[in-house]
This record gives sequence, C-alpha cells and structure tokens, in this order.
Amino acid sequence: MPPVNKSNKLSNVCYDIRGPVLQRARQMEEDGQRIIKLNIGNPMPFGFNAPEEIVQDVIHNMDQASGYTDSKGLFAARKAIMHYTQQKNIADVTIDDIIVGNGVSELIVMAMQGLLNNGDEVLIPMPDYPLWTAAVNLAGGSARHYVCDEQAGWLPDLQDIESKITASTKGIVIINPNNPTGALYPKETLEGIIEIARCHGLVIFADEIYDKVLYDGNTHTSIASLADDVLFVTFNGLSKNYRACGYRAGWMIISGEKKDAKDYIEGLNMLASMRLCANVPGQLAIQTALGGYQSINDLVAPSGRLCKQRDLAYDMLTALPGVTCVKPAAAMYLFPKLDPDMYPIADDQQFILDLLLEEKVLLVQGTGFNWKAPDHFRVVFLPNVDDLTEAMTRIGRYLDSYRKK
Ligand code: PLP
Repeated sequence: MPPVNKSNKLSNVCYDIRGPVLQRARQMEEDGQRIIKLNIGNPMPFGFNAPEEIVQDVIHNMDQASGYTDSKGLFAARKAIMHYTQQKNIADVTIDDIIVGNGVSELIVMAMQGLLNNGDEVLIPMPDYPLWTAAVNLAGGSARHYVCDEQAGWLPDLQDIESKITASTKGIVIINPNNPTGALYPKETLEGIIEIARCHGLVIFADEIYDKVLYDGNTHTSIASLADDVLFVTFNGLSKNYRACGYRAGWMIISGEKKDAKDYIEGLNMLASMRLCANVPGQLAIQTALGGYQSINDLVAPSGRLCKQRDLAYDMLTALPGVTCVKPAAAMYLFPKLDPDMYPIADDQQFILDLLLEEKVLLVQGTGFNWKAPDHFRVVFLPNVDDLTEAMTRIGRYLDSYRKK
C-alpha cells in the first residue's frame, strides 16, 4: 500500500494545547508518574462538577434524546439562548438566528468554513485560543495576528488591527474574556473594534465562552450589544460557565446587520444540516443551565474556590525572580512573562518539556497560543490550592536551576 498522508489542507493547521508535550506527559503517566496538570481548561477533573440540577435534568430527559433534532438545535434550548441574548442586550435575535453545536469548537470551524475562500484573511488576536487560527487555516484562509498589548493589560491594539487590514480581510475575531490572558475588554475597546469593522465591512466574531467567569465584581459587555449596523457572530456554551465541557454544548448567535448576510447565513444553515444536529443530551442541558441557579457566581466571589486559586497562583508566580504577569480579570488562566535576560529561551516547547521531565508539571508554551516570542507560558489555575502551591514551588525550583545553567 502506498503511504497514506494527511491532506494538504492540514499542512498549516496546528493545535499545540494537545500537542507533543501532552503526549509525553501521557506516557509518563502510563509509567506510573504523577503529573500536576496546569495545561487544559477542563474544570471537571479538578472537582468542579456541573451543577447537579443540570445533571439530573439530562438524566431525567434522556428518553427524549434518541432522535435527531432540528439541525439548528432544540427549540427549548434556542429559546433559552434567545432570552439570554436579551439579558446581554443583544438586539433583534430570533430563534432562527441561533445555531446550537457540539461545543463552540464545532461552530468556530463551521463559521470559518462557511465564510472563507482561499486566501481570505481573518484578524485573530495574538496570543489567541489556537483553534481560531487553526480553523481559519483549515478553511483555506489566512490568519493575520493582531497584537494584544501586555503593557495595556493585554487589550487589543487598535492601531495594529487597522494596519493589518487588506482587501482580502473578511472578519475580526475577539476573545473576550480572553484565553490565555484573562483580559476583559472595556466598552471603549469594543467600540473601537466596531468602528474598524464598520469602516472596512468586516464581520465580528466574538468568542465569549468565559462571560460569567469574572472576578473582582467585573461585568461583561457583549460586543454585539453595542451596534446593529455590523454583522456579529457571538459564541458561547456550557463548557466553562457551567463546568460542563464534556456535554459538548455550545451555540452561535447571528445578530446586527443580518440583511446583508443572507448568503452567508444560508451557508451556515447548510453546514449545520450536513451534520444533522448537535448531540441531544448536551442540548437538553442548555435550558436548565441558563435558567437555573448560576453557581459560577459562588466560585468567582472573593471567598470562592476559583478566585482563591487565581490569587494564590498569581501571588506565587509573580514572586518568582524575572516573572511578571497581568492579573486576570476573568477566565481561568494566567499568561506570565519570563524576563528574556534572565531566561534566554530559544525554544519554549523544549523549555516546557524540560519542566515536565524535571518537575512533573505540565504547562503550555506561549507560542502554542501563536505568541510571537518564546517568553511566555500559560498556567491553568483549576487545581486545588495544595496542588497549585506544589506546582508553583516546582516551577520556581526549575527556574532557579535554569538560571544557574
Ligand atoms: N473558545 C475558547 C476561548 C476556549 O478557551 C475554548 C476551550 O477552552 C473553546 C472556545 C472551546 O469550547 P467548547 O468546549 O464549547 O468547544
């Protein structure tokens, strides 16, 4: 048999969060070693269970889950999402403007497949959640990364966005609250992005999957609530706000200037029909989740587990020599910087692999988030305080030994 190769479509696609370092960690675990994992934003294995009312509701309704649903999703789920858009002040959203998917991930891929022709460009934040870059490349497009400025609390640099627009630019992605930086964008920044999109006729794709994971009394503004003359596609789901990653339940909401986008919307509907429907048990959870007790608020309150873990991880990391970090206002990640004079790292994947081998702590390197320089890494602060303390101690020891080399 001749060699079976992957398609050329995959040649520019990469997703390092589940890349070679994770494979190595798996091997080590198979050999019986215990690794402290600060690499993936999956709350459940760290004892953050989905709210009991959701679990019970899905179990109770399981007998209704064996048939296909409408390709765009269960009516009750979409109605609950429609109500949610009203709470977020996103105007003029009907049930028909909502597509439920197998997590936001499926819908990001769908949104890019439906929009892009070969060579079309999409503006993506740097650093990003790398699925966005991967989905643009898979769809034959080209990801143009705009800078989020660490000095400005990781806010998007509007001038840089403007400077990267070409005749081929189709859309702009924002991730707010942000993975990996934990930044939360103020209204002025969102308005600046809208103005750019308005001037250049761009679609705004807003990934808002962490919109309830907010610390210090912060509130979240949906960019789609701020204008009706630009096309918005807003993404959200149960994975983070409801600690239900495994339910694979997400949705996208089309709003704003819909009348100019009939053809694109038709394309999205066709892509949704081609995969028949999203998994139904996951869809069954949506109405209960959105309408139920919002237990995330207890976790992010000053006395809540997530907030305490954020504070501990931030305090311990920033006490290490040559490590600085913008304190996250939201989400579940820190994206610290290593002073390049103290840590002249040439290859950050190797740096993270060596940390894994020496100290059995698993992180993801900054370049895995399309960050330009090998001087950052991402920390997930989901493990409990004992494990986080141990992990930070080990990272500190590794950095000490790195400096002495
Ligand atoms: N968008 C962002 C910014 C994320 O961080 C993640 C997961 O970590 C996703 C999307 C994927 O979400 P889902 O589980 O709904 O596919």
